[in-house]
Amino acid sequence: MHILVTGAAGFIGSHFVRTLLDGAYRGHENDRVTVLDRLTYAATLSNLPMDHPRLAFVRGDICDSALLDTVLPGHDAVVHFAAESHVDRSVEGAEAFVVTNVLGTQALLDAALRHGVGVFVQVSTDEVYGSIDAGHWTEEEPLLPNSPYAASKASADLMARSYWRTHGLDVRITRCANNYGPGQHPEKLIPLFVTRLLDGETVPLYGDGGNVREWLHVDDHCHAVRLVLDGGRAGEIYNIGGGTHLTNREMTGRLLELCGRDWDFVRPVADRKGHDLRYAVDGTKIRRELGYTPRHSLEEGLRETVAWYAAHRDHWDPRPAPSTPY
Ligand code: NAD
Repeated sequence: MHILVTGAAGFIGSHFVRTLLDGAYRGHENDRVTVLDRLTYAATLSNLPMDHPRLAFVRGDICDSALLDTVLPGHDAVVHFAAESHVDRSVEGAEAFVVTNVLGTQALLDAALRHGVGVFVQVSTDEVYGSIDAGHWTEEEPLLPNSPYAASKASADLMARSYWRTHGLDVRITRCANNYGPGQHPEKLIPLFVTRLLDGETVPLYGDGGNVREWLHVDDHCHAVRLVLDGGRAGEIYNIGGGTHLTNREMTGRLLELCGRDWDFVRPVADRKGHDLRYAVDGTKIRRELGYTPRHSLEEGLRETVAWYAAHRDHWDPRPAPSTPY
């Protein structure tokens, strides 16, 4: 198989590509991979094995249709990770989110259609469903995104589904819970907290810290994306959950413990505008249809993640300005 992976100089896409090229996905041992990435502030080329003989890297924008026409021919599948991904940045300004996440996805879908790509995996997020006080979202849940980031991802999902319905493009959509693991940009909650605590600096906790998130190891997310790539059905949506639900306060407590700090290192900050209270996906469908089960416990995964940041200062130094909450 020849796969185009977009956004794979970022956190999750790079993990997917590294794992695939390492031969960990059965049936993909001989796959060739092209990574297309614009190398925004969120990208790190050291996330990728650039010298690997089955990897080709193209620096470019998914919005660039002329470039897509030169890159896409000959690919059997697209796994689409590229996105503007940070909610706080979308609150500050939504334009880049609409351009990359909506128009970029549409440009990629058009190019996939023009060049007869077999499968298009649209990697999305549980945030498209909005916020849920109790229970879990199934894939039938209406989309009620609250942040401009989530709205742009929901728009991209709808666009992707429409290319299946209208043009018969084999589009499969995944909606995953919050990821953690090595190699994430230090603006996001876990790496921001870990890197600041390791340096003996305070961490900003939004509001009362009561917001609940479901945390899944990046390796489990990528494993699920690969299952959808191999066995998913055209036009279908697959929630990816099975992670651990924690309030932000509980997560902060765990990170303080792992970094050897106490609550004196936590400073409450005003809540994020429109902050969703709780996310929780129902992952029954992917478990039943594709046999997905997560393999990493939060305890072990968090310990390894903290150890990784402690050992890879080059990845996160310099950090974003202290005023950036997460
Ligand atoms: P990231 O911000 O770490 O990486 C995004 C990558 O996309 C970067 O390498 C960036 O350079 C690239 N990119 C951005 N705009 C581009 C453009 N116009 N053209 C080409 N490349 C571009 O993001 P991530 O956390 O790895 O997330 C990857 C995908 O997974 C996103 O689509 C995100 O919505 C989704 N997702 C993320 C999470 C999470 O917890 N991080 C959870 C569920 C779903």
